Amino acid sequence: MALTPELQSLADILCETKLVWLLAPSFPVDFEYPQIILDLKKIGVEKVVELTYAAKLINMEYEKILKENPSKKYICPNCPTIVKMIEFKYPELKEFIIDVASPMVIMDRFVKKEYWPEYKTLFIGPCLAKKMEAKEYGIDYAITFKELQEIINDHKENNILDCEFTFSVTEDGTPDFDHFYNDYTKVYPLAWWVADSMHYKGILTKDQILVVDGPTQIDAGIQEFKNNKNIKFLDILACEWWCIGGPGMMSKEPIEVKKQKVLEYKEHCKKDKIWSKLGKFEYGEDLDITR
Ligand code: SF4
Repeated sequence: MALTPELQSLADILCETKLVWLLAPSFPVDFEYPQIILDLKKIGVEKVVELTYAAKLINMEYEKILKENPSKKYICPNCPTIVKMIEFKYPELKEFIIDVASPMVIMDRFVKKEYWPEYKTLFIGPCLAKKMEAKEYGIDYAITFKELQEIINDHKENNILDCEFTFSVTEDGTPDFDHFYNDYTKVYPLAWWVADSMHYKGILTKDQILVVDGPTQIDAGIQEFKNNKNIKFLDILACEWWCIGGPGMMSKEPIEVKKQKVLEYKEHCKKDKIWSKLGKFEYGEDLDITR
């Protein structure tokens, strides 16, 4: 199947454009690791990193904000669909949206500041709303997993020559991300895990956190947040089971299978000592992480 004009114009420039691809943490649902790294390099991706380090910076900032004022109410701003919905439908709740940007935006700022200021960035994920958010925040491109697979298929089916490429490797020669962070936030695309990976214990009790996911639950969840004084943190997601249920995902497997794939990838990375380049918080100091 021919690529859309938008995807074709992206595919055409891949080999000669300095691009860092920012890979959403739900990628293990649709792609095999480490094969995905080689597939990306063949189509012309020069650098590829995961978003998980940005998620860690976000969690640490949430913890700080909540500790400073635990009696306030907060809405997690990670989902751009939810942020826009609150801005338009529930403007009286805008003040509760935490002033911290999304993982995509923060990782974009981080790689441009710390590693590759001369590069453009491209986000790949399961989300259509990220295309709008990317335009708003100056991320150069945003495509879905489905669209990435179309580019890979087009490259193979039309026998397009692989671009010349280099790739980072682990000590045993396994293809690796260009900067790898073995963070606990690899579970970020799963419902409840923003709160869990935020280490809320000692700041909030579990019954002060409301996790809402999926289009049928959003309005009721927002009303519950408004009316229930006990709820302090609303972790709200437009797609069922959060990003692993996103519209740009290819897999039609049951949610439990998708969830398992993300958890298995996290465990795989954690167990393997050679992948121990832990992302230190200091790397992100002085980075603007506000919205
Ligand atoms: S929950 Fe859905 S809309 Fe929200 S960021 Fe994830 S994929 Fe996008």
